[in-house]
Amino acid sequence: MLAMAAAQLGLKAHIFAPEADSPAFEVAAAHTIGDYTDKAALTAFAAAVEVVTYEFENVPAETIAILDPLVPVRPNRKALETTQDRLVEKLFIRGIGLATAPFASVEDAGGLARAVAQLGRPSILKTRRFGYDGKGQATVREGSDLAVVFRSLGQKAILEGVVPFVREVSVVAARGLSGQFRAFDVCENAHQHGILSTTRVPAAIGAETEAEAIRMARALVDALDYVGVLAVELFVVPVAGQSGVETLVVNEIAPRVHNSGHWTLGGAVTSQFEQHIRAISGWPLGSTQRYGRILMSNLIGDEADAWLEVLSDDGASLHLYGKAEARPGRKMGHVTRVYPESV
Ligand code: AMP
Repeated sequence: MLAMAAAQLGLKAHIFAPEADSPAFEVAAAHTIGDYTDKAALTAFAAAVEVVTYEFENVPAETIAILDPLVPVRPNRKALETTQDRLVEKLFIRGIGLATAPFASVEDAGGLARAVAQLGRPSILKTRRFGYDGKGQATVREGSDLAVVFRSLGQKAILEGVVPFVREVSVVAARGLSGQFRAFDVCENAHQHGILSTTRVPAAIGAETEAEAIRMARALVDALDYVGVLAVELFVVPVAGQSGVETLVVNEIAPRVHNSGHWTLGGAVTSQFEQHIRAISGWPLGSTQRYGRILMSNLIGDEADAWLEVLSDDGASLHLYGKAEARPGRKMGHVTRVYPESV
């Protein structure tokens, strides 16, 4: 989707990926199949392009260290290194004065016992690295055997206290090369089995909460000297004893275009993909104006088999990602519906 947005602006995308069947190859002007640590392949790639970006946060920091001296990498190395480790990310978020779930670092089963003594049960153990869509997580419940829970992850982790949220929202925002900032309206997200299921916009939150969420996104991108699109996932938590008052807790930040922003493709004047390409190219950011009320539904696993029905629905805009195999839990595509604001 980034490559298609680039092409729309007259740019040519060159994709570097380790997989021989990357769906992006189908829609890009050039591609290189190479390992993320292959210095010769990365050096040749850097020589062939004017700017490098990445679309997921598990690209090794080493890859960026090789590319960085050769070609501008946007978002920068600090953004990648901060967001690919949950502990570093949480410390960074706290460090700029934003709220996170209570957390403790866990390096072994003994460390888990100490963290549980501090944070209580239930609590959630998450791997520090490579977690996504609820993967790399285990819940510590009453009666859970901590040695077994730690072994199920088997690597450095953090334990998080459970946040009593009433809804989950996200801000998809962009920062340009000269610090220009634009945010899409706050998105409300529903998950199933830890995987995003639907996104609705506008979110059912008050105007003050909406403004605060966007202010938090701005604080994050400014602190990272960020260039590109970034997503902030937030928990909305009611303030005890104060009816209608909500507070926001940062769950995660993603240094990239985000699934909860897919609706912008067709649902807003500028898509998050175009916005990212504009930002990393050093161009002005586009309008984030919405065309109406939005419902975006992910097609997970065999849900994508219903594609013909979706195509028969005049109100639905279908996107299929061209992934070769529809494994359970795999995001195969999404459907966006835009309704008049007043309905
Ligand atoms: P994550 O991969 O960290 O985004 O977690 C996946 C989902 O698990 C989130 O979208 C929440 O629904 C839930 N979750 C994660 N962390 C917490 C927490 N500390 N408290 C309550 N729910 C959580």
